[in-house]
Amino acid sequence: MTLQVQAQVSLKPFNSFGIDVRAQLFAEARSDVDVREALAYAAAQAIPLLVIGGGSNLLLTQDVPALVLRMATQGIRVLHDDGVHVVVEAEAGEAWHPFVLWTLEHGLCGLENLSLIPGTVGAAPMQNIGAYGVEIKDVFAGLTALDRQTGELRDFSLEECKFAYRDSLFKHEVGRWLILRVRFALSRVSHLKLDYGPVQQRLAGQGITEATPSDVSRAICSIRREKLPDPAELGNAGSFFKNPLVSQALAAQLQGLYPDLVAYPQADGQMKLAAGWLIDKAGWKGFRDGDAGVHKMQALVLVNYGAATGHDIANLALRIQQDIAERFKVDLEMEPNQY
Ligand code: FAD
Ligand code: NAP
Repeated sequence: MTLQVQAQVSLKPFNSFGIDVRAQLFAEARSDVDVREALAYAAAQAIPLLVIGGGSNLLLTQDVPALVLRMATQGIRVLHDDGVHVVVEAEAGEAWHPFVLWTLEHGLCGLENLSLIPGTVGAAPMQNIGAYGVEIKDVFAGLTALDRQTGELRDFSLEECKFAYRDSLFKHEVGRWLILRVRFALSRVSHLKLDYGPVQQRLAGQGITEATPSDVSRAICSIRREKLPDPAELGNAGSFFKNPLVSQALAAQLQGLYPDLVAYPQADGQMKLAAGWLIDKAGWKGFRDGDAGVHKMQALVLVNYGAATGHDIANLALRIQQDIAERFKVDLEMEPNQY
């Protein structure tokens, strides 16, 4: 067996909240063979297997009674290139942002708005990662996953992944699909998506009128560095709540009470409210209870000032959810995956 399995490993370095819980067993997969060995090992020990990537969308509330398998498989390859349309495949363990930079360095457009999102390629389809008006479903060309129930490989098309706002089939069939590699349909011709105000303003402020994909990536990186806490310095999992989708009637009612409400119409007739605005309006921005808090710059981000437990973060989240439900009649749904 090539897989190295360790017992009682602290997961603190492996989750961006910096929560100090232990994995009963821990291993890193550097190949498909490692993945299969890990599944066999967990089955032989009769313990569950929990797959993680960069741990940037996890809330760990207890020691994990499982074999935690960190995906560390590497490899990027071009599968198709007709001079304009290019399909690129990346292994699950590739770090997301360096992969985005690789595509830009190779003159490929499509992933620039998703710059500086932490985590791995393999986790990106889990919640159909999105930022600044682009989601991976917009550039998705397929993925290969291992069916943990049968041991068979399966290729998924765009439709089969059932991507939605921060959602996919894989979030619902928990523990079944282990994503091994993902394919992206990119282009040598720029089709920039510049709807979001801060991106337009940053480019305009730099005097850029004809932006390249790399310009957009750099602008987004600079906005994100100013606004979001760096998990290496302050534990967090990015946005802690999804932006709620509400009826037009409720949005209109809230707009009557709060004329500065931030709301965006959706194609299906619903309205998307900015959860960060609701939390800020309710007075939570900068709140701190022990080492669990709400970030000073971005109310949607819960932070660990050092020694918060997963329960401290979860309890704070519950208090915020209850307050927002009472004030605005809006339910906030947690975004990170809780274990
Ligand atoms: P992990 O946290 O390790 O895992 C997440 C889930 O996926 C878990 O349920 C895990 O079991 C499962 N999983 C992981 N790998 C695999 C695999 N290969 N096969 C099957 N299941 C797997 N998200 C956005 O959508 N947009 C953003 O703009 C954004 N910004 C962020 C900013 C910050 C500062 C932080 C900390 C987080 C941000 N996130 C954002 C959330 C997070 O980065 C993404 O969801 C990311 O895709 C998670 O990747 P990961 O490798 O860290 O996954
Ligand atoms: P922001 O610019 O302050 O905007 C607040 C919210 O309004 C965003 O969540 C965004 O929704 C929505 N919004 C803004 N402009 C919009 C437009 N033109 N059309 C439709 N919706 C619009 O947001 P932010 O917190 O700084 O984040 C910037 C981007 O990065 C967002 O897309 C956000 O989702 C993403 N991000 C995600 C995470 C995460 O962990 N999931 C963490 C940090 C940043 P959407 O969220 O639907 O885009």
